[in-house]
Amino acid sequence: MARKPIPPSSQAKVLLQARRRCCICFGLNRNTSIRQGQIAHLDGNASNNAEDNLAFLCFDHHDQYDSSTRQSKNFTPLEVKHFRSELHTAISLAFNAPVLFGETQGTVDFISGHYIRAGEYESAELKIQRLADGRYHVTGNALYGTHREYGPNIGELDFIGELAGDTIEYRWSYTSENKKYRALLQFSEDGLAVIEENWIGIFGMNVNFTGHYYKAT
Ligand SMILES: [Zn+2]
Repeated sequence: MARKPIPPSSQAKVLLQARRRCCICFGLNRNTSIRQGQIAHLDGNASNNAEDNLAFLCFDHHDQYDSSTRQSKNFTPLEVKHFRSELHTAISLAFNAPVLFGETQGTVDFISGHYIRAGEYESAELKIQRLADGRYHVTGNALYGTHREYGPNIGELDFIGELAGDTIEYRWSYTSENKKYRALLQFSEDGLAVIEENWIGIFGMNVNFTGHYYKAT
């Protein structure tokens, strides 16, 4: 089967998340050096370009990962995925840490900003602000029925969460039945994708935050 090229947007995402650090070098030795390397297909199928199947590996570890001839137990996809998530978390923490620019201390922060989901009958916006301790304060509201003369239904979010990899997770137990509301905010170069579980009954009728948001500021 002909190898399908990795779409440029997926390539960019893999390279950006790893900042050209090798997942296996980091997983084994906490080596955070920038390495020459390639994007590996973890399941060995060069046509499976799903982002979860891709990892940036240095040339040595890429060869070792792909070789099936050796006697010793080779790296498994699950092992490398675990290393990859450790690396992404370490990178997002390091790259969000304060940076000295001459005498000024600043923060390289790709997350904070104002995110908007626009729709014909519904809309939502989220404001995300980095706190001094590195966590994020998320506030915002969602509207349903924006054209109605008697006004839209409304929902609000206001919580503080931690960034793990590219995601901030929020959980809230809201009824006696132990139902849990859960929201995942996943950040990328394209903006923000929100996924929710058990949102019915949390906000105004039909109101939710699920969907794609573009970054306005
Ligand atoms: Zn390596």
